[in-house]
Amino acid sequence: MSYQKPIPVKTQDNQPYWDAADRHELVLQKCETCQSYNHPPGPACSKCGSTELSWESQGSDVTGELYSFIVSNRPFLPGFQDDLPTIIAVVELDKVPEVKILANVLECAPDELKIGMPLKMVWQDITEERALPQWVQA
Ligand SMILES: [Zn+2]
Repeated sequence: MSYQKPIPVKTQDNQPYWDAADRHELVLQKCETCQSYNHPPGPACSKCGSTELSWESQGSDVTGELYSFIVSNRPFLPGFQDDLPTIIAVVELDKVPEVKILANVLECAPDELKIGMPLKMVWQDITEERALPQWVQA
């Protein structure tokens, strides 16, 4: 069966992020002017407005801790009806705590979730070319 959920669209601003995800790697946008990380990526630094942005690889071994989450019991987008409840989590990266990444926590029952629990990034291959960063329990 083909993938039914919306696939994130690559734009000029986020293409390196999604290209990295497709090869199972995390890259973060970083401001050359104030050295802040800019996530989600955009056309300019959200802190200082600089457009001097570069990309820094975090590799494929990415860990974090659960910062906040919601559990969705009804599909709010097409394609999610078969894997309810869906856990939507904000995860603080261990190596870059100023960056929090929003994704699903997979293979986890909602009552197992605890704020601060260790998580590990995995990449879910959703089509031949595309992969999504997701989280599982570390
Ligand atoms: Zn900046």
